[in-house]
Amino acid sequence: MNRVRLLPEQVANQIAAGEVIERPASVVKELVENSLDADSRSVRVDIQAGGRSLVRVTDDGVGMSRDDALLCLERHATSKIRRAEDLASIATMGFRGEALPSIASVSRFTLVTRERDSDSPEGTQVLISGGKIAEVRAAGCATGTMIEVRQLFFNLPARRKFLRTEETESAHIQHYLTLAALAHPEVAFSFFRDGRQVWQLPAVPGGPSIAEKTAALEQRLRALQGTDSRLLRVDHTATIAAVRESEETAGEGGTTLGIWGLIGAPGVSRATRDDQHIFVNRRPVDNRGLNYALLEGYHTALMKGRYPVCCLFLEIDPAAVDVNIHPAKREVKFHREFEVRRVMADAVRQTLLKYHGGSAAAVRPSAGPSTPAQAPRSLAAEQSLPGLATVLPQGTNPPAPVQRPLAMGFRPPAEAPAETISQKPAVASPAGKQPSIGADEALRSQTPPANSPPPAPAASAAASPSQPATTAAVQPLLDVPLRLIGVVGRLYVLLESDRGLVLLDQHAAHERILFEQMLARAEQSGHAPAQKLLLPQTVELSARDAAFLREQLHDLARLGVGLSEFGDRTFLLDALPPFVRGSDPRQFVLELIDDLKAAGASVNTARLGEHMVAKTVCRHAVKAHDPLSGPELEKLVEQLRHCALPYTCPHGRPTMIEMSYRELEKKFGRVQ
Ligand code: ADP
Ligand code: MG
Repeated sequence: MNRVRLLPEQVANQIAAGEVIERPASVVKELVENSLDADSRSVRVDIQAGGRSLVRVTDDGVGMSRDDALLCLERHATSKIRRAEDLASIATMGFRGEALPSIASVSRFTLVTRERDSDSPEGTQVLISGGKIAEVRAAGCATGTMIEVRQLFFNLPARRKFLRTEETESAHIQHYLTLAALAHPEVAFSFFRDGRQVWQLPAVPGGPSIAEKTAALEQRLRALQGTDSRLLRVDHTATIAAVRESEETAGEGGTTLGIWGLIGAPGVSRATRDDQHIFVNRRPVDNRGLNYALLEGYHTALMKGRYPVCCLFLEIDPAAVDVNIHPAKREVKFHREFEVRRVMADAVRQTLLKYHGGSAAAVRPSAGPSTPAQAPRSLAAEQSLPGLATVLPQGTNPPAPVQRPLAMGFRPPAEAPAETISQKPAVASPAGKQPSIGADEALRSQTPPANSPPPAPAASAAASPSQPATTAAVQPLLDVPLRLIGVVGRLYVLLESDRGLVLLDQHAAHERILFEQMLARAEQSGHAPAQKLLLPQTVELSARDAAFLREQLHDLARLGVGLSEFGDRTFLLDALPPFVRGSDPRQFVLELIDDLKAAGASVNTARLGEHMVAKTVCRHAVKAHDPLSGPELEKLVEQLRHCALPYTCPHGRPTMIEMSYRELEKKFGRVQ
């Protein structure tokens, strides 16, 4: 008996709908993507009851002829690809030719369309109910396309039951629309919910350059959110190997990967990934590898368990990425996944470094052969904090000191000589009376007060990244002159800038300084300077620990820990990094093994080293309540200024927070 049969078209469409159309937001996504593919300049979205009763998308795109309007409702009907080879390089949002028939099979569906480049004065209207064409007629209408989807899943009660509250469904729709709007600032979007206007986003003229595209993105972001967090511009290009190894093209040159957009400044983070938007060729994607790369790029500039804020666009040859691995195309697969990740992490890292180092480099007189990114580091390695860092050895090979212009330096307050500062806490000179510096004044007059950035109020920036700020004009805190006022609680150093009050956590700051000094040393020579022990010591370990340690010997040597095998389970310890205070070297090794084991396989060996340094640094840095003299504090700030990533400690906690005059005025009720 034959039991296999072909399913009716109608059923096949509903099955496809099961994959592609999960909820009203999926309908909005498919329709808006079609509008974007159709070269629209303006897209309007109306929803009712969270999209359950109505989703309507109206565009001014190329529209369709009568024949196309009928054909597009057939399964596998598309204008976007023709041959199987086209699948290898998809430049449109759609290509499966599934969305319209799927949606039409599970709703009451109306399509009204008129071709943009046709003389015909009329358009076409098609009415479909549950997948069956009810009516086709000529209709007077504007050019472009309007698609109306009513009573989604009316013929699939089981599916309808799975829909959530109107609120939830609306939120999903709004989330998708946010992504579409961010990816296409050149398109005007309006969004109406139950007749009320939620958004009216004007088209933002852009341009082909990254600077123009980023400016457009910033403007769109402001229109969407009203304000934006402290964001840094990313502009990074790299070449990665082309396509797959297996293909004959492999080996012939490479393909370009461009990454641009905005990422949160050090100290800006969120508890969820909600403000983390990544696009590949303008398609919003969810890619674990990229998420991971983002974290990797932030590394010590982000607290554990927090997530970056970003809006990043990857531009890559469509042939180097597969978008046909997910029915809703939410996921993509790179042929060179690993390299893409690496470039992404680099892009983020370099942007963060440039935020501080780059702006300093811009005003720094040219100094020796070191590159801007390295300069602050090597300099940090070369200096040490008098009276604090006695445990620090001299750098082995100090590079030529880099001079900074005076204006960037530490200006002692006029009234209080630096030496007496620690005995004279909290004597401030009103900043309003300070002679202002040209650059700062210019910056302030450009930036209206309402937009002036309150950089890094740690708690608030972390909790709500939507601090008012003007993206381009954020001048890093350490780039403006700071005057020392005093110390509160023997921990928080009080400073004053022309922008307001600055608090510095002396412990966190010193941790950052030591951390970078140590890494710089390890990097400089490939080896950290090791201090030979007068009396080498043997360390006996359990068999498991011994086996574990044997694998780490090489990396440990790089960090200045001299250990060699001395028997089955015994090691000879003959050198330690100079920063280790030498009371009990054996204990240090045992703790180190525990640390390394705890760090586990999730981190690579370089990270293990950093992890170790970060932990050690924490123990050896100036403690919270160590009283520091005025000159020591000045030195601390100066050394922090020379760090590559000065705004967070190695654990990602902020080293400095700022409270602008604007915020102070608000707190004191002087302004609204
Ligand atoms: P796909 O987008 O994968 O091609 P769809 O089912 O979403 O498949 O759409 C089928 C075809 O209908 C598209 O290829 C396109 O030619 C046409 N189309 C759909 N929506 C629009 C629109 N808003 N404007 C112009 N043409 C459209
Ligand atoms: Mg489509």
